Amino acid sequence: MKILVINAGSSSLKYQLVDMDGEKVLAQGLCERIGIDGHLKHKPSIDGKQKFDADVSLPSHSEAIEAVIEKLTSKEYGVLNSMSEINAVGHRVVHGGEYFNSSVLINDEVLNAIEACTPLAPLHNPANITGIVACKKVMGESVPQIAVFDTAFHQTIPGKAFMYALPYEYYENDKVRRYGFHGTSHRYVSARASDMLGKPLEELKLISCHMGNGSSICAIEGGNSVDTSMGFTPLVGLPMGTRCGQMDAGAIQYLMKKHGYSIDEMLHILNKKSGVLGISGISSDFRDLDEAADKGNERAKLALDMFNYWVAKTVGGYAAAMNGVDAIIFTAGIGENSKSTRADICEYFTYLGCQVDEQANSKRGEEIFISTPDSRVKLIVIPTNEEIVIARDTCDILDKK
Ligand code: AMP
Repeated sequence: MKILVINAGSSSLKYQLVDMDGEKVLAQGLCERIGIDGHLKHKPSIDGKQKFDADVSLPSHSEAIEAVIEKLTSKEYGVLNSMSEINAVGHRVVHGGEYFNSSVLINDEVLNAIEACTPLAPLHNPANITGIVACKKVMGESVPQIAVFDTAFHQTIPGKAFMYALPYEYYENDKVRRYGFHGTSHRYVSARASDMLGKPLEELKLISCHMGNGSSICAIEGGNSVDTSMGFTPLVGLPMGTRCGQMDAGAIQYLMKKHGYSIDEMLHILNKKSGVLGISGISSDFRDLDEAADKGNERAKLALDMFNYWVAKTVGGYAAAMNGVDAIIFTAGIGENSKSTRADICEYFTYLGCQVDEQANSKRGEEIFISTPDSRVKLIVIPTNEEIVIARDTCDILDKK
């Protein structure tokens, strides 16, 4: 069975074609600058097929899907004889609100519910819908389309953890609550951790640290998300690349009044100019911050210290909330690659009985225990793979059809 995995953004579209027989990635790529001019990068994984990387006119997502299908089926760059070899399409959808606690086959009712969640994710859900509609148009109604939600995994979080202490009607009428994001990633790494630990998920207390451009931490008990650091939006929790993380609404009002910012201007600052970029004044990329800190830049060092501190205190909070933790998982760009960040964070965990194996921690981008064998709480690096979860869910739903 061959599954096309689509992650549609407002002006971009990432794709992967997966052969579920052995879970092999046959090709992957990225359409950029959709609606502006257009660029396509396509990388087949089959010997003898060429990469493609050039400007292509992409006035809308429909042309982007057409260009992807054209490349997937072309003699020079392709890995398929025809589009009909694609059995189904799995879409990443950011927000499923309280409607979806698992992946679903998309029909009109589902599409309407995704649309109803748009006010909760105004930048992401419309782009995801555009990707779904474009696939339907180009590939036809007969090819099943499946939605896999970032929020679904967190629907098991109990009320005491997802509620904000606001007047209750804001939850009841306006659906204002913690939703959480990166659910597909937290779900993937927790399942891998269970395999690596040789214990069923039902018996494990895990804390997953997804540390990338956006970062979130998730407490997973018995395989279920029981708390997570992002909230109603992906703005809060840890300080991130450019997002502020936890903030006091009173300070926001103060700054808006003092500088005459509109709410949109203020949110732009909180989303795009804050986090480690705002603190360091240098970059949102941890590689640049590591380099600057090594050269003695104090603000870069402060930004890194703040990030590590927030990870440590969030993990500590979740260990307390679950009354224990068996393993702490690091994933995503920073978690998979930055040995110094991992080492600095783990210094906070000696009270948990964590001991870092320095040699193992110097490895990058592979599944590995970075704790010593006698470490009471295990430390694990697991490269995330959201695409394979989307492909698997798509396959499972097709099997049940
Ligand atoms: P992601 O959002 O998961 O793609 O993560 C992207 C982020 O990972 C980048 O902005 C960097 O901050 C970080 N990153 C990637 N590679 C490295 C590395 N070798 N060392 C430190 N940070 C890295």
